[in-house]
Amino acid sequence: MGAAWLDEWWAGGEAAPAAAPMAASERRRLRRRRAHMSTLVGLSYAVDLAVLALFRLGGAVPGSLLALYAGLALSHLVLFGALQLSGATERMRHPNLTGLQMAWALAMQVGAMLWAPAVAGYFVGVMFVVFSFGALRLPLRSALWMWAATSGALALLMWRFPPLGAMAPALRESTWVRAGTVVGFSTLLLRCLVLNFRAMALHARSTREAAKLAAEAAAARERATRDGLTGALNRDGLAPLLERELERLRAHGADSCVAMIDIDWFKSINDGCGHLTGDRVLRALVDLLHGHLRASDRLARFGGEEFVLLMPSTGELDAMEIAERLRELVEGQDWSALVAHLRLTVSIGVAQAHPADRAETLIARADTALYGAKAAGRNRCCAAVRVDALLQESIPMQLVHLERHG
Ligand code: GH3
Ligand code: MG
Ligand code: MG
Repeated sequence: MGAAWLDEWWAGGEAAPAAAPMAASERRRLRRRRAHMSTLVGLSYAVDLAVLALFRLGGAVPGSLLALYAGLALSHLVLFGALQLSGATERMRHPNLTGLQMAWALAMQVGAMLWAPAVAGYFVGVMFVVFSFGALRLPLRSALWMWAATSGALALLMWRFPPLGAMAPALRESTWVRAGTVVGFSTLLLRCLVLNFRAMALHARSTREAAKLAAEAAAARERATRDGLTGALNRDGLAPLLERELERLRAHGADSCVAMIDIDWFKSINDGCGHLTGDRVLRALVDLLHGHLRASDRLARFGGEEFVLLMPSTGELDAMEIAERLRELVEGQDWSALVAHLRLTVSIGVAQAHPADRAETLIARADTALYGAKAAGRNRCCAAVRVDALLQESIPMQLVHLERHG
């Protein structure tokens, strides 16, 4: 249809995004929304019937009108409710059948006006309600067609159905008053329609913007927990995971280990090949490790060339096995694409979480184990329990220190 500009204009100068395929949860939500809307329609009819009952008591409408109105209202709810619930309308372009529902309700009002001209004003008023319902779902062009048909029907009635003059004596006496009534009603309806559609377009836009903001906030949260250089988690990303593991350990006694991984002699790569090459090595190492981790393990960059691997539900022996596998992986990797003849190795310290641990004490034990691995010659894995003995028995603390920083 060549009226895309019209839709765009309604949407506030912004074309609506193309509809995405609907997920099952979305379909359920839609069904709930339809049921909600049907309830509102039912309540609106109930109010009409209460008003008609008052008119009936005053003798302005016959009892048969009340009965027929009730019957048609009920038929509306049952027929359209059943059609929608059965899913029969799902493949249609407008599954809510809003246009048909409006036509049904508007026809009821026109019929009631003819039947009880003395209170025709009320039924005219109900048409505004019908159009307000329609504006919630009807495409603009259909709403405009509906408005034109309703205005036309009213004009026809004004001229061809003299009893409508019962609404006001002036209607009977003057063509101008009749014309004024038709034009006034018609444009009132149009103005009401415009405002409703405008409100809906604004609502749709703010919903879209809220969704966009939520997605951006989620992306920003994700970025805030990632290390910019390597894409591994950063300390902020690691902290809540560590806390959760320690809570799990305290609550359910689940084993957990962390490994502190440090590149051996990394400074010499920077010194010999430049920091940018050093950066590339860091990125390549993280990519390599990510490609070989279990789905449950999480890698975080803890500092310059130091990484923490969190291994949930893993005992110390398994953690040592994993650490050893990763060490061998790094040692056996061909790094020559980054630096010719580069031989990269890592030292790894492993610590198992204890119920009394805080994140810092657990990391500190893994760090101590890492010192042990460095002190024992690098390119090796060391567990925290072993390193205590190692440090006490054979390697003086100063030496460990010297090895690391010398
Ligand atoms: P060791 O075997 O004892 O760990 O020796 P090392 O050279 O790896 O350790 P050291 O702590 O002496 O040096 C670490 C180096 O890592 C020093 C620092 O410049 C470098 N570094 C830290 N962060 C980055 C980074 O983001 N990019 C690069 N290229 N280098 C970094
Ligand atoms: Mg190092
Ligand atoms: Mg280091």
